[in-house]
Amino acid sequence: MSPELQSLIDLQRIDAALIEARTRIAAHPQKVAEADARLAEAKDVLDQAKDKLRISQEERRALEKEAAVYQGRLAKYKDQQGSVKTNREFQAMGHEIETAQRELSSAEEKVIEHMVGADALAVEITAAEAAFAARQKEITAEKQELDAELAGAEAALAKAQAERGSVASGLPAQTLNIYEGTAKQRKGIALAQATRDGLCSACHVRMRPPVFQNVRANNSIIQCESCRRILYYIPPPPPVPPAVVVK
Ligand SMILES: [Zn+2]
Repeated sequence: MSPELQSLIDLQRIDAALIEARTRIAAHPQKVAEADARLAEAKDVLDQAKDKLRISQEERRALEKEAAVYQGRLAKYKDQQGSVKTNREFQAMGHEIETAQRELSSAEEKVIEHMVGADALAVEITAAEAAFAARQKEITAEKQELDAELAGAEAALAKAQAERGSVASGLPAQTLNIYEGTAKQRKGIALAQATRDGLCSACHVRMRPPVFQNVRANNSIIQCESCRRILYYIPPPPPVPPAVVVK
């Protein structure tokens, strides 16, 4: 194979590495954002549980204040009932006492409900805290992996860029132009291997026999007449001689 064609094959390999490294680098921010979102999700669950407890505690305090008001009212009515003059007034006061008692009981019941609910919420918060801690650990490890992956991709990119510079500088300007132009049109793939039966392996169009013959010689820049990719040929490996058994 001509050194020029070999350099182009090297260039193609290097460019594929460049594309891969750039794709990996480009994917990095999205992966970090996804990890952050999963951490935020666990934090939300914890915050919601804490909010529920805080609201329940606020409601409970309000109910306790209400209960104290009913309690005071009840004491006042009982006191007043003792000093009424008529039976009618006594009955009316009894009615007030009943109402206040009912309101007090209802408030007290609700306070108890909140106390019971707070126990369940405390359990929920503990579980959410544990889940959040586990998620935090998981995301920290994941981000370390992502950082290592990014560093690896950046190193691969730098290496490929350096390699490309040295390979490209060894090619004639005209050849490099053909390569670059075709790569631009063909999503970075400017070369195609010719198959053993004379097809372009990229676009699957059959070469005319004289073209295929020239391609097989691997000593000039020949472009596929259909997709314009530069063609090269890898001959089949020589047949393996049968193993000689020494007795
Ligand atoms: Zn082709």
